[in-house]
Amino acid sequence: MKLGCGPAWKMAMALGEQQRSTVWLARGGLRPTRQRLALAGLLVGDGMDRHVTAESLYAAVGAAGAKVSLATVYNTLRAFCEAGLLNEVVVDGARSYFDTRLDDHPHFYWEDSHQLTDAPAEELVIAGLPDAPEGMAVSRVDVVIRLKRA
Ligand SMILES: [Zn+2]
Repeated sequence: MKLGCGPAWKMAMALGEQQRSTVWLARGGLRPTRQRLALAGLLVGDGMDRHVTAESLYAAVGAAGAKVSLATVYNTLRAFCEAGLLNEVVVDGARSYFDTRLDDHPHFYWEDSHQLTDAPAEELVIAGLPDAPEGMAVSRVDVVIRLKRA
């Protein structure tokens, strides 16, 4: 049997995706409901890191044939964040990106296409930070490098 195009291969792919999604949800202590599984599958099903907005994930879930409202996508992304499964990166006041990669790393923001991608962390040097105000501690430092055509 030729691998790569038969239904058995597709089923194996889908099983891998579902398994990855279930394990991922369990890591955040979340029950694998059908909607969560559909969204988790698009986020981490292939094992690759990605950055999505609620709108881009909503478009992807629609293209995949699942019926989930934009509000549900948004609320589910928030729940994934609160469960520690996603990092939220706010690029400008109106636009939140959700990142499946959880370690500290800088981002490129592509101003003409509104894409957020990872920037090489090993090339980033932060020499110092201002002291946090009295009674406060730095919780996180987000580095977003905005790109425009040169
Ligand atoms: Zn990232």
